[in-house]
Amino acid sequence: MEKYIEVERAREMILGDVRASLSSETVDLLASLGRVLCEDVIADRDVPPQDNSAMDGYGLRAVDSDAARSKSLRMPVIADIPAGRPWPGHLADGTAVRIMTGAPLPTGVDAVVRRELVEELEEAIILNEPVALGNDIRRAGEDVRKGEVVLVAGTRITPAAVGMLAAVGMPYVAVVRRPRVAVLATGDEIVDFHQVPGPGSIRNSNSFSMAALVLQAGGVPQIFPITRDDPAVIRKALLEAVAGNDLVLTSGGVSMGDYDFLQEVIRDLPQSRVCFWQVRMKPGKPLLYSRIADKPVIGLPGNPVSTMVSFEQFVRPLMKKMSGWPDSKLLLLKERAIVLENLAAPGNRRHYARGVAERDKAGQLTVKLTGAQGSGILNSMVKGNCLVMQPPGSEGARAGEVVEIEWLDY
Ligand code: AMP
Ligand code: MG
Repeated sequence: MEKYIEVERAREMILGDVRASLSSETVDLLASLGRVLCEDVIADRDVPPQDNSAMDGYGLRAVDSDAARSKSLRMPVIADIPAGRPWPGHLADGTAVRIMTGAPLPTGVDAVVRRELVEELEEAIILNEPVALGNDIRRAGEDVRKGEVVLVAGTRITPAAVGMLAAVGMPYVAVVRRPRVAVLATGDEIVDFHQVPGPGSIRNSNSFSMAALVLQAGGVPQIFPITRDDPAVIRKALLEAVAGNDLVLTSGGVSMGDYDFLQEVIRDLPQSRVCFWQVRMKPGKPLLYSRIADKPVIGLPGNPVSTMVSFEQFVRPLMKKMSGWPDSKLLLLKERAIVLENLAAPGNRRHYARGVAERDKAGQLTVKLTGAQGSGILNSMVKGNCLVMQPPGSEGARAGEVVEIEWLDY
């Protein structure tokens, strides 16, 4: 087991154990939004399927309109073509057809002039200038050609991609399935949210912040009942959690206290391995990473901010990787900001303070802290929209200096 390691090393160990993304499942088109595609998608036909008009106007033969160069030209209108109703006729020389946006071009039409550029008479139009060949025409396949790969496996499905899937006629899509994530709070002092905490007790907020983070990261959370600080109870809950999930998150029970049993319980389980304990960060130091039956079991520290900050640094990237995201997209977005207050030296651990980042009138990104920074101040996460990162051993920062932030709004 490694102990008291750097954030990067910890992340490398956790992500390094993911050998492949989760298996695929077939979902309804719209349900594929945000998921990662498992197969290349090939266009079954051209999009658009046929040459059509880009405007409401008149279809004609461009050469016929040349005569409008010297004087006004009258052209009889011989048909009316709404969208969705192809006209089977053929354009006679010197005539025009009235045609709406998206309507298929009849044979003979090789240019469209928009209606506001002509004089519209009863059954004719007056052209005052020639129309260029191909004007205001959309060609079959100009968006997508039949047989073309429109989306490659591994793509994250955006709203535009959902539209494209519909355009190529895909009612169902194969995507990486969502990770199932067990969420398990431990602690004798923890009571359910609907209870009134007795002396020395506190309501369980971690199960809900964790489950909400899991949902937001695209997973399916399963909240377990609060687990007492009792090795036998923890053991039973862990085994059940591992059996039914792809990933297990616990909160609490990983510090140095007499009742912090998680690590020893995991060690005593068959098919288990404790990979590291403690990370050089604040908050979040006591993090425990282990594997049971080859599934990741991550012991998040119990203090509500530590739980959430550790999730952001380790669990969100892990869930993204399991869900098929590329390595380049796993981490929180970083940016540099001018800090508006003095920051104390972080000591020998990397500090992730909670901040509110905002662009000032000049467009410069600024950040200030959310106030009290204790690891129990959940309010700092409620108010914050970013983490303010300070490297270990640094001297802190003075107001006006540049610091690195990681965005918490997604
Ligand atoms: P632990 O990591 O078990 O030592 O817990 C540290 C502190 O975090 C506890 O004293 C509680 O105040 C708080 N805590 C632990 N678990 C929870 C929880 N599920 N919900 C809210 N606070 C918690
Ligand atoms: Mg505890």
